[in-house]
Amino acid sequence: MHHHAPLQILQEVFGYGAFRGAQADIVDHMVSGGDALVLMPTGGGKSLCYQVPAISRHRQGRGVAVVVSPLIALMHDQVGALEEAGVHAAFLNSTLSSEQAAHVEREMMSGRLVMLYAAPERITNPRFLAQLDSLNERGLLSLFAIDEAHCVSQWGHDFRSEYLSLSLLHERYPDVPRIALTATADDLTRADIIERLKLEDSRVFISSFDRPNIRYAIVEKDKPREQLLRFIRDEHEDEAGVVYCQSRKKVEETAAWLEAEGMKALPYHAGLDAAVRQRHQDRFLREDGIVMVATIAFGMGIDKPDVRFVAHLDLPKNIESYYQETGRAGRDGAPANAWMAYGLADVVNQRRMIDESPAEEEFKQGQRGKLDALLALAEATDCRRVRLLSYFGEASSACGNCDNCLSPPATWDGTEAARKLLSCIYRFHQNGGQRFGAGHLIDVLRGKVTDKVTQYGHQSLSTWGVGASLPEQQWRAVLRQLIALGHVVSEGEYHTLALADSARAVLKGEVQLLLRVPSVTRGKATRGAPGKSSGSKAAPIDLDFEAQQRFEALKTWRAEVAKEHGLPAYVIFQNVTLAEMARLHPQSLDELAGISGVGAKKLEAYGREILRVLESEAQG
Ligand code: ADP
Ligand code: ZN
Repeated sequence: MHHHAPLQILQEVFGYGAFRGAQADIVDHMVSGGDALVLMPTGGGKSLCYQVPAISRHRQGRGVAVVVSPLIALMHDQVGALEEAGVHAAFLNSTLSSEQAAHVEREMMSGRLVMLYAAPERITNPRFLAQLDSLNERGLLSLFAIDEAHCVSQWGHDFRSEYLSLSLLHERYPDVPRIALTATADDLTRADIIERLKLEDSRVFISSFDRPNIRYAIVEKDKPREQLLRFIRDEHEDEAGVVYCQSRKKVEETAAWLEAEGMKALPYHAGLDAAVRQRHQDRFLREDGIVMVATIAFGMGIDKPDVRFVAHLDLPKNIESYYQETGRAGRDGAPANAWMAYGLADVVNQRRMIDESPAEEEFKQGQRGKLDALLALAEATDCRRVRLLSYFGEASSACGNCDNCLSPPATWDGTEAARKLLSCIYRFHQNGGQRFGAGHLIDVLRGKVTDKVTQYGHQSLSTWGVGASLPEQQWRAVLRQLIALGHVVSEGEYHTLALADSARAVLKGEVQLLLRVPSVTRGKATRGAPGKSSGSKAAPIDLDFEAQQRFEALKTWRAEVAKEHGLPAYVIFQNVTLAEMARLHPQSLDELAGISGVGAKKLEAYGREILRVLESEAQG
């Protein structure tokens, strides 16, 4: 094999045995000079799609690959990972001193550099463009990679205006191959990326968006913090995870509370000082078992492979956001959990945020449609993954790895209850036009005497006490689903309830409502053996006692190396690689080289050390 053959590079430099999925085709296409748009889920292996071609083309004398990435905070680690693998890489961004930048520029202009990472705003910098011109004239611009390509689209959630100017790459350097990559792209965004980046003639590679190792679960809120704590304790003790909350205040409170419960939890949101945010992100990347409690300000491009869970304490905006946020779990392919708690207030809040936003009515209508799809997912009684994938246009069958597949929820016919609830709202309206919120409505349905009931004389309503047999929790579920389905609207500062036009059909009994039995009620009646409810603990690594000792020793060794090099531990070796070393217990450099994730450079740099660590563990 030639030293510039892609497979040879994959094995020698990265230590991996084979390409995954579409990687091989994409790499071949790039090596032979084509343009590509790559849609691949998080953890799918996008980086190798441009790294291997960059190395291959460099070995053929074609110079430097320019990687455009919006994630300045991560460039240092990305470049560190390449240098560890023996690939000459560097970045140019505002964090460098002028001497450092000058050094990088010299390496670039000589063509010695294999890969240069740059922030998008640099591309329009005249000085930088002049340098690219000079490289191009000498045939030393090997390719452009545009990471997080959805940032070019106004439809997406991460729009960056600097991305718009990236179309100039094609105009100025039409012969240099380009590859744009993203993990989020519905049809609209995809069309936008193609148009704005002028990728009309490029090949489009679409991978399945399924993340089979992620287990999806959505539970109804009932003391959500405690539910969260139980979820983490039962399934993710000492493992890294992200907990998403909507507001800064809730982030702070939840982090403090988890901390008080003895967990290593850190807050992250846009209101924190930049230095604090950076420190917390560094700790999350570098230390084991940190729980990051964050707003959505955290996470884009976090390529930590061993995030074992993502939890939502508040409802995301839509399925795209949910999928992107949960997708940060389990990039290494080992089992991971996506867990969300949601309740009535979430539905009400999200609807209100849309209603009250200053956007155009047409835009709001679109947002409402997207929220409805997410609510339908939350209320679903069938496979969550089938619904998620079908949202992205992919057909599939029941997955066996989501809460609904693992323990199918009981359903009940809520048609009658829904009619009672709707007619109670209707009676309020007839009886003086006053509107009320959920609490009072449920009190009236259940026939509870309160001051408010007496004050408004609601004991005389025909719907008074008609729902005494259903527990409050179940009434909340009925109301939540009616709001989710759009039959009831919740308005104003006091969340008062009103009927939507579509409620008429339900009142007439023309619509059947099949509802989930709330898991809280269900749990009391049907839950059997304790601890079996949510499946087994996600244990990526199954080692016997001695292998476990070796694994721990290797981790200790890795922590020292990582610290010395100022890099996150997983950049030195990922957990899966260390676990293989511990399990196989290689006796020679040759045996060690056969382990996935051990490339030539790392073997040379660390091989003897690793054998020594394994040896001394065996003796001690
Ligand atoms: P993405 O950018 O698509 O989210 P990454 O490029 O970070 O994904 O890859 C995810 C993980 O999969 C990384 O840990 C990477 O090392 C690993 N990986 C990617 N391709 C392969 C492969 N062909 N063989 C083994 N591991 C791979
Ligand atoms: Zn399923």
